[in-house]
This record gives sequence, structure tokens and C-alpha cells, in this order.
Amino acid sequence: MSEAQISEIKTLLSSPKNIVIVPHKNPDGDAMGSTLGLYHYLKTYNHNAVVIAPNDYPEFLKWLPGDDMVVKFENQQEESKTLIENAEIIFTLDFNALHRAGDGLAKLIEGSTAMKIMIDHHQQPDDYAKYIYTDISMSSTCEMVYNFIEMLNDTDKIEATIATCLYVGIMTDTGSFRFPATTSKTHQVIGSLIDKGADNSEIHNKIFDTNSYSRLQLLGRAMQNLKVIPELRTAFISLSQDELDEFNFKKGDTEGFVNYALSLKDIIFAAIFIESQKDQIIKISLRSKGDFSVNEFSRAHFNGGGHTNAAGGRSEEDMQTTIDKFISILPTYKQDLSQ
Ligand code: 5GP
Ligand code: MN
Repeated sequence: MSEAQISEIKTLLSSPKNIVIVPHKNPDGDAMGSTLGLYHYLKTYNHNAVVIAPNDYPEFLKWLPGDDMVVKFENQQEESKTLIENAEIIFTLDFNALHRAGDGLAKLIEGSTAMKIMIDHHQQPDDYAKYIYTDISMSSTCEMVYNFIEMLNDTDKIEATIATCLYVGIMTDTGSFRFPATTSKTHQVIGSLIDKGADNSEIHNKIFDTNSYSRLQLLGRAMQNLKVIPELRTAFISLSQDELDEFNFKKGDTEGFVNYALSLKDIIFAAIFIESQKDQIIKISLRSKGDFSVNEFSRAHFNGGGHTNAAGGRSEEDMQTTIDKFISILPTYKQDLSQ
């Protein structure tokens, strides 16, 4: 973002406005951390701000400061519509293509005359926003919200509440500070957030140590279903709707499962296929190590996208057909996958 744009935004935010902040559908830690972090920051200027999430998010995020103020479009459509109609500014965070907000909400945002500001770290941004802060080298949108506040010369406004929200997203999107996008600047931001009151150990416990017995049993089943294609350095997991039902699946329960596949020695490409009877799709999560781009793989074959090393996608075919398709595509990437 240019100096001129920053100063325009500063002017824009200098008097209270009606502001709507939107994360992507099926919000994760970075989506909720960044939107709520920005929400608390805007509140310090007495803006009339609100976070509208396209749909619900996992229980392990439901303690975030401001969680009780989040409007969920899925079951509060009329309220969301009014809020968007009255909005003067709409921030879209942690996504860069409007359809990622879900059909109904995307349409409302598209039709709104509010000033739109995008803050995001995914590849190939659309250009629906007047102000676009995009950087694919960033660990997380939360790190970018910190930078955004820094660009506005306002880091002294960051107190424990904002710090906690931003810490959550940086921690979850970096796999607890281990993915390659974690830089020394990321750690400096984290250090500053701890100084400002984020309780790192407690946050870690609240996000990761909330397993239910049934989730661990589901993990056990996922590990039994793990398949390895050693010559293509690929591993994948599947979970059918029946299996999810058997272990009382709740939103967020499969978060991180795919990383176990990627943790196998010598594996550089991992996938998990999860059946959703409700959406009539197989939801796919893809992860890689090194240069193999799961973003490109997903865009090319599974109607999705994301980052080089983490992407999502979907298939409208049944589980077996989807897995057969996946296996049949792999050899075309032999060059990249057998190195
Ligand atoms: P996950 O596998 O955790 O759902 O997603 C991994 C990453 O890819 C996340 O950063 C997520 O935002 C992104 N992602 C997931 N699904 C899609 C999609 O359909 N399109 C795009 N562009 N990104 C996605
Ligand atoms: Mn993110």
C-alpha cells in the first residue's frame, strides 16, 4: 500500500463510521483473529464496527475476545443485509475473491457502495476493493493487520485484546511458527504482541488442548485410512460421512489431520478428502513441502486454491471417483514429486 493510500485511509478512519468486517466462509483462526483484532482496533476510534462471518466456526475459536459480538450471516441474514446496506466501509480479510464469502454474502458485498478494503495473503487477488493490501509472502492476515495498524502509526493502541486476537491467527496459520512463511519479522510481531498482553501459553492451550475423546477417536480412524504412494512422495487420508457420524464430528474436528500425512518421512504432498453430505461435495485440503504448488494443483483440478504449501478445493463426484481422479492425475507431476 502506498503512503498516499495509507494517509487516505487514515483520513477516512478519523471520524466514526459504520464499518463491516468480513472473513472467509468456514473461518479459521487467522480469519477470526484478524477480523476480531481489527474490530477491537476500530472500536478504539469509536467506529460502529461489526464482524459478519459467512457461517459458523469451530468451538476452539469461540473464546476469542469479541466472539459474542460476531454476526453470522448464515442464520442472521436480515440483520446482515441491513448492516451491509448501512456500511460506509467494508473490510474483507483473509480472502481475495468475493465468492469465498459464500454466495449470499458475496452478492451483498458486491452490490454495496461502501468503500472496500482488502487485507489478505492469498495468491491472485481479484480487484473488487478500492484499497488492496495483499502480500503472499506474509505468514498470515493477522501479521498484516499488525502491519496495517503499524502503517497507521497506531501500535500503541494495541492492547491485550487486540494482541490476543492477532496472536491466534499468526500461530494457527504458521502451524505454531514452523511453516516457511514464518520470518524473523513474524517473530518480532509475536514478541510485540506478547509484550502487549497476549498470553502465549494460555492461547496455545485454548486452541490446541481442547480435544474431545471422540475427536481423538476420529483422528485414529483417519490414521487407519492413511494411504501412501511412496514413489510420488504423496500421502492421503479420506473420511466418509458415515465415519464422521460414527465419531460425532463437530466443525473443526478434522483441522490439522492432513499435517499428519505430511509429517511422514520423505512425503512432500498430502491430501485429506472429507465427505460433506450437507454440501454434497468432497472437501479437499492439500498441503506440500518445498516448491510443489498445491495452489496451482487445486486450481487446475479441484476448483479451489490458496497458497503454495496449503490450499483447499472440492469435488462434486463421490469419494471413490474423487480419489481415483486424484491418483490418476499424480503421475503428470512425477517430475515435481519425485525429487
Ligand atoms: P484448508 O485446507 O485449511 O481449508 O485451506 C488451506 C488454505 O487454502 C487456506 O489458506 C484457505 O483460505 C485456502 N483455501 C481453501 N479453500 C480455498 C478455495 O476454494 N479457494 C481459494 N482461493 N483458497 C482456498
Ligand atoms: Mn490466513
